[in-house]
Amino acid sequence: MNCKFCGKNGYVDKRKFKYRFIRESDYCIAVLAREPYNRGHTLVILKKHRCDIADKNLSLLERKDFIENIYYYSKLLKRKIKNEKGRKPGRIYVAILCDGVKHLHAHLIPRYHPFNEKEKNSYREFFINRDKYEDIKKAIKKQDMGGFWYMFLREKDYKKSYFWKKNKRQRNKERKKIIKLLNSG
Ligand SMILES: [Zn+2]
Repeated sequence: MNCKFCGKNGYVDKRKFKYRFIRESDYCIAVLAREPYNRGHTLVILKKHRCDIADKNLSLLERKDFIENIYYYSKLLKRKIKNEKGRKPGRIYVAILCDGVKHLHAHLIPRYHPFNEKEKNSYREFFINRDKYEDIKKAIKKQDMGGFWYMFLREKDYKKSYFWKKNKRQRNKERKKIIKLLNSG
């Protein structure tokens, strides 16, 4: 085993995450995503190596702590985080995939309102073969366009976001700012 999160130890070393580390609990750590899809994109990572949410070795205590952490940081993000335009997230999306790194972790991705033109266009394009034009128009008007599509768009385009226009030093400064915010209550 050579896991990206815990190496050969089978246990996450928080020092590895340096400037991305937020806080830890008994069984989990919370860190900022190395490649954030949005401002505040947070990872909750189980300390012990378990391959995914259905891992048969995942104990009840680990499960409880993992879910509790997801709940805690989702609430915190919703309350504290704003995007670069000062907008608050309408939702916090949670994705437990464990594809890239096969070690149990959850992505907490704030979804900011309202949707911009680029997002609306992408939504239209994405669903035009499935939905009627009128339905799409209505969904856009009501800002009710949620879900996988949004994550897909982030996954595809996140490198074009404000964060990646910054240099490495500025990116670390930005991370520090977010961590300070998340640790302030
Ligand atoms: Zn691991």
